[in-house]
Amino acid sequence: MALDITTRRGWGARTGRTGRPMGRVRQLIVHHFWRPDVPASASRATERSVMRGVEAYHASKGWSAAPGYQWVVFDSGRIYEGVGWGRTGVHTAGYNSVSIAFCFGNDGDAAQPTEAAWRAASDLRAIAVARGALATPFRLTGHRDHAAKSCPGNRTYPRIGRIRTAPPTGDDDMLRTGDAGNEVGELQQDLNRLVWTLREHGRIGTTREEPVRQPGWYRLKADENYGAKTVTAVAWAKQQLGYRGGGNSAPAGFLARLATVAWANPGLYRAEARNDTQSKRLVALEGHTHSEDGSIVP
Ligand SMILES: [Zn+2]
Repeated sequence: MALDITTRRGWGARTGRTGRPMGRVRQLIVHHFWRPDVPASASRATERSVMRGVEAYHASKGWSAAPGYQWVVFDSGRIYEGVGWGRTGVHTAGYNSVSIAFCFGNDGDAAQPTEAAWRAASDLRAIAVARGALATPFRLTGHRDHAAKSCPGNRTYPRIGRIRTAPPTGDDDMLRTGDAGNEVGELQQDLNRLVWTLREHGRIGTTREEPVRQPGWYRLKADENYGAKTVTAVAWAKQQLGYRGGGNSAPAGFLARLATVAWANPGLYRAEARNDTQSKRLVALEGHTHSEDGSIVP
């Protein structure tokens, strides 16, 4: 399954409540809905309706952001925009201006999120880091670490580290040391694009906050052989995206692609998607190629 993100417009947000501008933060806090406990089999229509319900509930409390979380991840694996990037939420007292919140749309006391939901949350973390919304390293906590609450639930809380380690959505075809061929060549080009993107956005070669050091392998020769240099580049890419899974293997091809897209298209997740189909098309990253400047070519 490709990464599937629905914007506020896509689910029909009725309020303009999206907090205040916020820079890069060093903490990610995990929550759950508890109620409603939305099953993996729920339709898009149901999920949209739930989003509007949570928005209305939070708005009724007078919160500056509604829904109060930056992002919601359902058991279907679909992601819905709450506050979105670069804005403060209302989710954890005392931490709203220094953290981002991901909320699972289930009851984490009854069950942990589905595999699809963990993967989606892991991809979302990669995008957060790539966009500069979340610093690396970052602190990963549950709501219960900061308040006398069960949130994100007894089943989910012990496993929240999966947001750093779950394999990427739609990338079960892992590349490994010794592999060769076209796919490896594409991975190598993706890794080069990631370096260009980081450079373009000031994380390499500038004095801005937390500049990324020029990697020793720049630029990687696209020789279609997964050798030692590719291993080094993959490890570097994972570090840049806050990803700790997969050993030497390379879901990083997907992640590098994801990061390039996320950065080259800052408006992507606020695009003018009027319905699910449009929203899905905007973020269906698989099957897209990149132009030289890293923008998406349909
Ligand atoms: Zn919570």
